[in-house]
Amino acid sequence: MLLEKERQLITKYGNKLIELGITRQTGGNLSIFNRNESLMAISPSAIPYSKISAEKVVVMDLNKKKIEGDNKPSSEYELHRIIYEKRKAINSVVHTHPTYATTIACLKEEIPPIHYLIAFAGLKVPCASYARFGTKKLAKNVYKAMGSKYNAVLLANHGLISVGKDIKHALTISEMVEFCAELYYRAKAVGKPEILSKKQIKRVIENLQDYQKKQ
Ligand code: 13P
Ligand code: ZN
Repeated sequence: MLLEKERQLITKYGNKLIELGITRQTGGNLSIFNRNESLMAISPSAIPYSKISAEKVVVMDLNKKKIEGDNKPSSEYELHRIIYEKRKAINSVVHTHPTYATTIACLKEEIPPIHYLIAFAGLKVPCASYARFGTKKLAKNVYKAMGSKYNAVLLANHGLISVGKDIKHALTISEMVEFCAELYYRAKAVGKPEILSKKQIKRVIENLQDYQKKQ
């Protein structure tokens, strides 16, 4: 089986999305890119995570060609592909519909740096303009908002995407962003959130690199 390890990780982390409550039903999708083989393992479209086995995970190249797997690849293939093409240090993409991040996305707002853990995603979490799910336009809008600076972006009226050096990293970023989105929502409900400065977040980004090295 091609990309067996990656396909097993997709099944494992797909179930984690449901366990963590950061997506529902068949919402969201995830992929891992093997740069040596130049192949992507991506979750199949419209299949509940509990029913996905390694065989059902689809192997695609970056030219939209299916290499292995009987199922249809995720409808967001283009969204995953554009990231691997443009961001050479990124090897995993996680897309979810978490409640709080999606709430902010429905306001078409960004998440400002109200808590230091936003540093996992960058200086803030921008919001990409709306386009229908599964379209090239959505992929373009997301990359426009993300560029090379951010590891997470809100998708207006839709959800969240995070990118990482591996799938564990990409999922951690999604969890941190959802935590910050919940704090932002709650803080706004009872007062005026205090926003950290760029300088303060830049310092945290540097510290986080050391913090993670010790693991
Ligand atoms: P897929 O089931 O095709 O991956 O689509 C789910 C989704 O979240 C679309 O944005
Ligand atoms: Zn979606």
